[in-house]
Amino acid sequence: MNNKRNYEYLLSDLSSLKGVGEKTKNLLKKKNINNLFDFLWKLPKSYTDRSKSLKIKDLKIGEIQTVTIIPQKYNFPRIRKLPNRVLCNDGTGVIDCVFFNSYEGYIKKILPLGNEITVSGKIGYFKNKYQITNPKYISEDSSVIKQLHNKYSLTDGISEKVYNKIINQIIENLPNFEEWHSKNINSKFENISWHNSIKELHKPENIGNFHSNFYQRLAYDEIFSTFLVNSEIRKKIKRIKKKNKIINLNKQDSLIKNLDFSLTNDQIKTLEEINNDLASTNKMFRLLQGDVGSGKTIVSLLAAINTINSGFQVAVMAPTEILARQHFNLAKKIFPKFIKIDLISGKSDYKVKKKILDKLENNNIDIIFGTHAIFQKKVIFKKLGLIIIDEQHKFGVNQRKRLSDKGGIDCDVLLMTATPIPRTLTMTIYGDMDISIIREKPKNRKPIKTYSKLDSKIDDVIKFINKEIKSGNQIFWVCPLIDESKKLDHSSAVKKFDYLKKKFPNQVCLLHGKTNLEEKNAILNNFLKNKFKILVSTTIIEVGIDFPNANVIVIENANKFGLSQLHQLRGRVGRGNKDSTCILMFKSNLSENAKKRIKILKDTNDGFVISEEDMKLRGFGDLLGFKQSGIKNFKLADPIHNKDLFLLAEMEIKRIENSNEDISRFKPLIKLYDRADIINDIA
Ligand code: ADP
Ligand code: MG
Repeated sequence: MNNKRNYEYLLSDLSSLKGVGEKTKNLLKKKNINNLFDFLWKLPKSYTDRSKSLKIKDLKIGEIQTVTIIPQKYNFPRIRKLPNRVLCNDGTGVIDCVFFNSYEGYIKKILPLGNEITVSGKIGYFKNKYQITNPKYISEDSSVIKQLHNKYSLTDGISEKVYNKIINQIIENLPNFEEWHSKNINSKFENISWHNSIKELHKPENIGNFHSNFYQRLAYDEIFSTFLVNSEIRKKIKRIKKKNKIINLNKQDSLIKNLDFSLTNDQIKTLEEINNDLASTNKMFRLLQGDVGSGKTIVSLLAAINTINSGFQVAVMAPTEILARQHFNLAKKIFPKFIKIDLISGKSDYKVKKKILDKLENNNIDIIFGTHAIFQKKVIFKKLGLIIIDEQHKFGVNQRKRLSDKGGIDCDVLLMTATPIPRTLTMTIYGDMDISIIREKPKNRKPIKTYSKLDSKIDDVIKFINKEIKSGNQIFWVCPLIDESKKLDHSSAVKKFDYLKKKFPNQVCLLHGKTNLEEKNAILNNFLKNKFKILVSTTIIEVGIDFPNANVIVIENANKFGLSQLHQLRGRVGRGNKDSTCILMFKSNLSENAKKRIKILKDTNDGFVISEEDMKLRGFGDLLGFKQSGIKNFKLADPIHNKDLFLLAEMEIKRIENSNEDISRFKPLIKLYDRADIINDIA
C-alpha cells in the first residue's frame, strides 16, 4: 500500500465519514478533534456488555440485557399520547418493544413480524409483562449487538452511537503502515504493529491497560516522533556552517581572576561546552539550564567576551528592563574598559536610540543589552556573533527557531533558563537544542531556612520582619493567589499593603497586576535602592533580578502554588551571603499532601529534585513554564509513568544520529503526530 495516501487518509476531514455532518464536525472541532487521526485518541471510558443473550424467562428487570426475539403483533394505538408497542416472544415468554415518538413505518422495518431479531436495552416491567423501551440496539444480525459496546465521555450533542460509528469506520479503514521502528525497538513491544496497537487500544476489554505492549508502543511513537523532530531541527541548525570564533583563553582567565569569587565546577564545565561551540564551524544552539542563583550570568558574559575578542558583536536580551540593566552594569564592572558596552532602553528618546542603532550598524558597539527591542527589524548589526537570551522559558520551539535564524549565519545562540524541569520534559521541550546544565550552587550560599506558619500567627511573622528590617534587611511579601481571577488577587494585595503600611509606615511598596510597566520599573528600582523595606506583590516578580539586600520572603496562601513555583519564589532571596528565610503561610492546618510538599522544600534546595517531586505530585501539565512553552500535551505518553520510554527514545535518537540513518521511513509517523509544520522539508 502507498504510505503517502495512508497517512493522508487519517489526516482527512471527519465529514468524509458516513454519518458525520457539519454539525457533528463542528462540535468535535470544539474539542480539538479536526481529523480522523485526532479521533483515534478519543478513548472509551467504559463499556456496556451486550454480549450475552438471554431467554425472556431469565431477564432481570432494571438491567441492560440482550435478547433474541420474534415480533408477533403490532399494537399501534390511535391515541397520540400512548406509545406504539410490538409484542414479541422467544418460546420462553413474551416481551413488548415500546416506542415513543417513532413512526409506524420505521417500526415495521426494524421489527418485521416473524423474523428473528436481536434487541438490547434496559429491561422494564409493565402490567405483568417485560418491556424494553425505545431500544437503540436492534438488528437482524445478532453479532452486531452481541458485543461489548464502548462508552465515551461524550461531547454535548454527539451520541454514543455516533461515536462508535465514527471510530468503527476509522478502524475498519485503518492504514497498515510499513513498520517505522527498528527491529530492536519493535521487539521491546512484542513486535506489535501500529495498526494492531490502535485496534487493541479501542477494544473495550482493554480500557486502562496502560502496561500492555500496544499502549506502550503507541506512547513510544508519540515520544519518539517529538524527539525525532527535535533532533532534525538540531541537526539542521548544526549543519549551518559559520565562521568560527577564536577563543583567547588568556584573556578569559585574566578576567576570571579579577572576579571576587571563583567559578564553580559546573560553571567551568558549561563555559567549556559553550566555548567549544563558539570555536567550531557549526552554529551553536545551546541552552544553559541552571537553578535561580546558580550563576548563569557570569558564564554567559565570559562567552560574550570571548566572542568580542574574536572580533564579533554580542546581543544580550533580557525579559525586563531592570534585568537588562543589571546585566549591563555587571558587564561594565567586569569587562576591560575598551570594550564598548551599551544598553537600549524603552525609555530612551528617539535621538539616543538612533545613535545606538547607528553605532551597532557601524560596529561601534561590542555588546548591547536590552529587552526584546534589540530584535526589532530596524536593528542592524555589523557583525553579530552571539545572541544571549536570558530567562527564555516563555518561548516555544517555533519562536526559538526563528531567533536562531535571526542573527544570520555567523551568529551563535545561547539561551538561558532558570526553570529546572525533570529530565523527561527537558528532552521533550528543549530537545532541539544542545543542553548545558549547572547543578552546583556557588559555595558561599547559605541554605534558605524554610518555615511554615498559620495565618493566625501573623503577629510572629511581623515581629520577625521587624527584627530583620532593624538589621538592615529587606522583605518580599507575596500575596495570595486566590484564584484565576485577577480582581480578587488584586484586592487582597491592596488590603495586605494597607495592613503592612500601618505597621511599617513609609517602608512598604506595592506591585500588582495592574501596575503599568513604567511604574513597575520605578518601584523595583526604588526597592533595589533600599528606599522601601517591604515589597508587597501579587504577580511573581521575574526571576533573575538580583536583590542582594532582600533576605526574607513571605508567601501567603502557599498551598496555592506548586512546589516548583515556591522554589522559584524562594530563590529570590538567599543570593548574597546573608542568612535568609522563606516563610510559607497557610490559611488552615496542613493536609497530609501539603505537609509532604513542605517537607520536600525544607529538605532540599535543588530545583531539579524539586521539579521531579512536583511533577510526581501534580502531573506535568502544571509545572512552571510548561504551559507557556506552547508544546502540545501528549495524548498517551506520560513523563512520569513512561520515563523508561523517554529514555529509550533518547537512546534510539542518538543511535540514529550517530549512524546517519536514512529517516524517510518515519515520514508517516511525523506527518501524523503533528509538529510536522516545523520541518516540512524533512524526508
Ligand atoms: P542566575 O543563574 O540565577 O542567573 P546569577 O548569575 O544572577 O544567577 O548569579 C547570582 C549571584 O551569584 C550573583 O550575585 C553572582 O555574582 C553570584 N555568583 C555567580 N557565580 C558565583 C560563584 N561561583 N561564587 C559566588 N558567587 C557567585
Ligand atoms: Mg539570571
